[in-house]
Amino acid sequence: MALIVQKYGGSSVADATSIKRVAKRVTEAKKAGHDVVVVVSAMGDTTDELIDLAQQVTPLPPQREMDILLTAGERISMSLLAMAIHNLGVEAKSFTGQQAGVITDEVYGKARIIDVTPSRIRDTIARGEVAIVAGFQGVNPTTNDVTTLGRGGSDTTAVALAASLKADVCEIYTDVDGVFTADPRIVPSARKLDRISYDEMLEMAASGAKILMLRCVEYARRYEVPVHVRSSFSTHTGTLVTNEPDPSKDTTMEQPIIAGVAHDRSEAKITVVGVPDVPGKAARIFEVVAGAGVNIDMIVQNVSAAATGLTDISFTLPATDGATATQALTAHQPDIGFQSLQYDDAIGKLSLIGAGMKSHPGVSARLFAALSEAGINIEMISTSEIRISVVTRADSLDDAVRAVHTAFELDSEQDEAVVYGGTGR
Ligand code: ADP
Ligand code: ASP
Ligand code: MG
Repeated sequence: MALIVQKYGGSSVADATSIKRVAKRVTEAKKAGHDVVVVVSAMGDTTDELIDLAQQVTPLPPQREMDILLTAGERISMSLLAMAIHNLGVEAKSFTGQQAGVITDEVYGKARIIDVTPSRIRDTIARGEVAIVAGFQGVNPTTNDVTTLGRGGSDTTAVALAASLKADVCEIYTDVDGVFTADPRIVPSARKLDRISYDEMLEMAASGAKILMLRCVEYARRYEVPVHVRSSFSTHTGTLVTNEPDPSKDTTMEQPIIAGVAHDRSEAKITVVGVPDVPGKAARIFEVVAGAGVNIDMIVQNVSAAATGLTDISFTLPATDGATATQALTAHQPDIGFQSLQYDDAIGKLSLIGAGMKSHPGVSARLFAALSEAGINIEMISTSEIRISVVTRADSLDDAVRAVHTAFELDSEQDEAVVYGGTGR
């Protein structure tokens, strides 16, 4: 008998029929003798629809109200799932993030979990009932206000609960059979990975592979929670995120160089034009951006034109923070002394990830050759020990991903990857 945390994403609970299907799956685990804690996302694209609705009411909704609005999505799915499980003769109770003891900091929209005190969940398990927890939400203990954890945050709720409850495994149920070498919606010949290390999964998530939220992987790595990513629409074994070696594989064999190709369409690029090329200006620019609460990703500084003593600095950031960063920089234009700002949200980012690239020369050369053969222009480049990322035009990103996937011989010879549901939104 094990303690299992199961998380079901939006596409797995998109309508009443899906909720009943998930209820059946939960009761099967329960009847097999396991203790089960379930974390749910909002039904289908509910969160996006609520955001659209708020935008129709006001262009800049207060963040506190936004979080109250968005937490409603998970309350709907959690209660409906509890009802469906109850209907199958198994006791189930649903809990909001606050009731489940998910304590966060005060940052609306991207709150961090600082503690989990799941006493009510423990009591529910002890009574032999299934506990259902609303994903993506918590409470700030100072104000007692609800907070949300950022898009995809139910993954983090699930892993944080699994860590706190010392669960045997955290199962992430979604609309594909596991973690693939690329998003199967773009690369149908992508291959499912049996295992992936925390570090590689961390880079994949950080590079936009939304199959798992970045913070969830950080949490899983820190607390060594084994995460099993799999489909709620099939019974296939999925992908295990773990640092444990595969006992069925010969460890003397060389590991693959590349784990996968990730892509990200959610970033924008700001170019600060005509920055005086003197010490301290870059520091000021990034102080201003950081002061506005915006995280930046890649940075490029052009060679300064000697005659003018001016340079351009470009950086990428989440497109959702574009207006905030632009406003903050414009307010400081007089003291920084730049000439103008350019904003470009038609960019895409491709990242090649693999622990093996540390010890294999030629990976970048092969990547750039693949992109050039496909006629794709590279605008920015950044690297880490186990990742190379490039920025391209948004409309050539899909072609870029397919070209790189093929160049690194990642295509599967077997059946095409199945996408069971979801809208890819
Ligand atoms: P959920 O609603 O279950 O949380 P998400 O839409 O957040 O599901 O994440 C699942 C989706 O992630 C898949 O449908 C797929 O399009 C996308 N995805 C991106 N990169 C990958 C990858 N490398 N492997 C598998 N899926 C990926
Ligand atoms: N419902 C939230 C979202 O769409 C959280 C999640 O699904 O994980 O981002
Ligand atoms: Mg998700």
